[in-house]
Amino acid sequence: MTPDEFRRRGHELIERIAAYREGLGARSVRSAATPGALRARVPASPPAAPEDFGAIWRDLDELIVPGLTHWQHPRFCGYFPANAELSSVLGDLASSGFGVIGLSWQSSPALTELEEVVTGWLRQMLGLSAGWSGVIQDTASTCTLVALLCARERAGGFPAEGPGSQGGTAPLVVYHSEQAHSSVIKAALLAGFGRDHLRAIPVDAAHALRPDALAAEIARDRAAGRIPCAVVATTGTTASTALDPIAEIASICAREGAWLHVDAALAGAAMILPECRWMWRGVEGADSVVVNAHKWLGAVFDCSVYFVRDPALLVRVMSTSPSYLRTAVDGEVRNLRDWGIPLGRRFRALKLWFLLREQGVEGLQRRLRRDLALAQELVAAVSAAHAAGWRLVAPVPLQTVCVRHEPAEVAGEALDAHTLAWVERVNASGAAYLTPAVLGGRWMVRVSLGALDTGPEDVRAVWAAMRAAAEGAVAAAG
Ligand code: PLP
Repeated sequence: MTPDEFRRRGHELIERIAAYREGLGARSVRSAATPGALRARVPASPPAAPEDFGAIWRDLDELIVPGLTHWQHPRFCGYFPANAELSSVLGDLASSGFGVIGLSWQSSPALTELEEVVTGWLRQMLGLSAGWSGVIQDTASTCTLVALLCARERAGGFPAEGPGSQGGTAPLVVYHSEQAHSSVIKAALLAGFGRDHLRAIPVDAAHALRPDALAAEIARDRAAGRIPCAVVATTGTTASTALDPIAEIASICAREGAWLHVDAALAGAAMILPECRWMWRGVEGADSVVVNAHKWLGAVFDCSVYFVRDPALLVRVMSTSPSYLRTAVDGEVRNLRDWGIPLGRRFRALKLWFLLREQGVEGLQRRLRRDLALAQELVAAVSAAHAAGWRLVAPVPLQTVCVRHEPAEVAGEALDAHTLAWVERVNASGAAYLTPAVLGGRWMVRVSLGALDTGPEDVRAVWAAMRAAAEGAVAAAG
């Protein structure tokens, strides 16, 4: 494609994306696609000869868009808000258009330096001290893996530089709450701790990690000759946005010499609001923190920001220096390949830079405050429907409202079946998209507000769809 063709098709694409965004509210949120539907309509082999671009546009409209569940829809309340602010989409397009890769500072100096600058901006926005250094990784899963690899190396005296896992030292143990994200367990397993050395710590009534239970579990491990290596605490758990008590956990970690990693993948964005910072009080005592700028904040996926206290340790664990990548300025610059797992990196800082500049801190704060208020409006509506069987099943510090509809005399597995039946009715209707999850051993439904264009009328429509679906499920079962 020549630059001139790109200009023409690029304008067409921008027009299509803009129209898609403008028309989202009228679409069914969940895709109605059935398994295999797309595969059946796309040729099994690549085209031998160049195709007309018009055919690509047609297939985009007829094959691809119907297969999308619309994450940017104003009534998308599933999983978590994954806001792709259009300014950040342009930043991402600029990154793709430049087509540069950050293997080393010299391989694209602006890529490295802008990443230093924007992660520094975000650090200030979150109220973190200047003692933190930031780097962009792809996802929170990767950040947690990096954290646990660093924790393992620090606790074990850098075994990777010698015998690795063959050195026969005392077992290292990782602790997390019962509500930690599955990526924490995955990271610990990948980092070689072994399932026998993972401890899921019980939670309190608000679904937050209990520091007394953590201390007791650590004492048991110490008595058995095991070494407490790392604690992963969560600010804003996936199921219910529960807030682990970071300050108490940090003081246990300091006493035990354990690494503290704070997973604030979703809720970290809220720390741009000074009134929310109590939620991670004590975070300055952590060794590492992850905040997904690609969730509620608005940077298009993927853009996880990993903050570390000790970048020299990170570099020691992650660095590689093959001859072809060495340069004369290595002593003066960051080589971001030494700050994470992959060698190559996209120019991800551009999408965050575009977002922060176009919205300003105040614009982002305004939107997040709007979402906090919308969540409280839904809380009020659900509370007022107590007599009709509606229950809030977790505190609502942020934008996720966890509910159950409990018809009289429906309990246990029948209640689970009812919950899954009514949420499926909502999702199948296309009026809204919600995700159910298990909390305290029972299914419930998360209404995760915070899409870019969600307004009070959308929250009212979601609530109406929920009530209609629950009534319909009761009628169908009766
Ligand atoms: N941590 C928490 C608390 C999450 O809610 C999620 C995703 O929902 C993750 C980690 C994983 O995020 P990612 O997809 O960036 O790996």
